[in-house]
Amino acid sequence: MIHKTIIEPFKIKSVEPIDMSTEKERKQFLQNAHYNTFLLQSDHVIIDFLTDSGTSAMSANQWAGIMNGDESYAGSKSWQKMEAAVKELTGHEFILPTHQGRAAERIIYGYLGGEDKTFISNTHFDTTRANIEFSGAEAIDIPIPESSDTSLIHPFKGNMDTDKLSQIIIDKGAKNIGAVILTVTNNSGGGQPVSMANTKAIHDICKEHDIIFLLDCCRVAENAYFIKHREPGYENKSYKEIAQEMFSLTDGSAMSSKKDALVNMGGFLSLRDPELAKECTNLLIITEGFATYGGLSGRDMEALAIGLEEVFDADYLEYRIKSTAYLGNKLHEMGIPVMMPIGGHAVYIDAKKLYSHIPVNEYPGQALACELYVKAGIRTVEIGSVMFGKYDEKGELIPAPMELVRMAIPRRVYTQSHIEYVIETFDEILKTKNDVKGIKILEEPEFLRHFTAKFAPVDVNEKVEL
Ligand SMILES: *Cc1c(COP(=O)(O)O)cnc(C)c1O
Repeated sequence: MIHKTIIEPFKIKSVEPIDMSTEKERKQFLQNAHYNTFLLQSDHVIIDFLTDSGTSAMSANQWAGIMNGDESYAGSKSWQKMEAAVKELTGHEFILPTHQGRAAERIIYGYLGGEDKTFISNTHFDTTRANIEFSGAEAIDIPIPESSDTSLIHPFKGNMDTDKLSQIIIDKGAKNIGAVILTVTNNSGGGQPVSMANTKAIHDICKEHDIIFLLDCCRVAENAYFIKHREPGYENKSYKEIAQEMFSLTDGSAMSSKKDALVNMGGFLSLRDPELAKECTNLLIITEGFATYGGLSGRDMEALAIGLEEVFDADYLEYRIKSTAYLGNKLHEMGIPVMMPIGGHAVYIDAKKLYSHIPVNEYPGQALACELYVKAGIRTVEIGSVMFGKYDEKGELIPAPMELVRMAIPRRVYTQSHIEYVIETFDEILKTKNDVKGIKILEEPEFLRHFTAKFAPVDVNEKVEL
């Protein structure tokens, strides 16, 4: 018997209702939110693809763990469990719990950063870049050239360009490199995986120049899936063994556990070097909490330890990666320009190609995010010039290399019929694409502007019809 439908490898024990809204209501909601999907109320959203961060459905085991959480201030059982789980996975000696990924980033990059420092990554995630730049340091992205061609098929489009890495180290001087950071999978670069061979090459270069090599390991289990199925020599290794091998090549890692640890809140920093760990622990205690809880409750640490185990389950990973690919490949077949091949946690639409009539300084990605919301209540996020654009001295936009819209899929949350609804929406997106107008920015903060910026459709005189 051939099974074609990818079924969710779980049953639903507890449900959360979705408020259904009309298109007319959503036009008003979007206007109230200044055309920024981050400013929408979640009960005005039908399918929430804003992020896969902290939006996972926890398992019955994790909920049971919540009740078992030990809330002691120091040395709680839940901390011991979390520390053991993270140590076993990373092989790193020193584990620092933090309330989420960026807290780990602020500690490590605040410490390693500063005016004359340079950080190098396949692609710095937005909070990573912000924490590095906030310290006064610069952050350079060097994904392989293939990564910017959204239609090119390449098994490991998340890889770092190692020739460029060597060149930058020579140009800047090894002592001025704060760290090399490998993001797996490469979130801002399309959720594309990184190969073990690339990780080894980066390890060798860092070792040669005595530079710290860190893993931004938010989606290390999803990355392991791709290695097992795409990289020769890994067919017979378990997903966890593959992840462990990757960690073994690094000096430390920062994780937002809101991704592949299947929890709603949590993170950690793991380090090998005792001196660096000591300095970071001091910073942790000043701003996050004591060394055995960071910013976390005992129950959070309990759920995190269980989630880190569950995420490597072969049936779970198979469903996770295949169901994301199902959505992406269907859209691709319909003629929607999506980033190919489909990544692990999200489907990325190339808005510059879809809305080729909208210039980049009118943010085609933001325009598509608004369309998806109005048409079907689907919340997405622009990953393009709103998120990564800069201004030159004349105040002209220096656009991001790509204008993407990300549909990030929460883990274990939506069923196939939700996904079918999304696919149907794109029929209408295609039919009406030439009527869509650009977007302009009315107000923006200096850092991470996409979270709070206020926008308006380009034609100000055209009031939103109600
Ligand atoms: C989410 C994320 C972070 C930041 O983590 P938060 O928990 O949101 O603070 C850092 N790097 C990557 C690759 C991420 O996806």
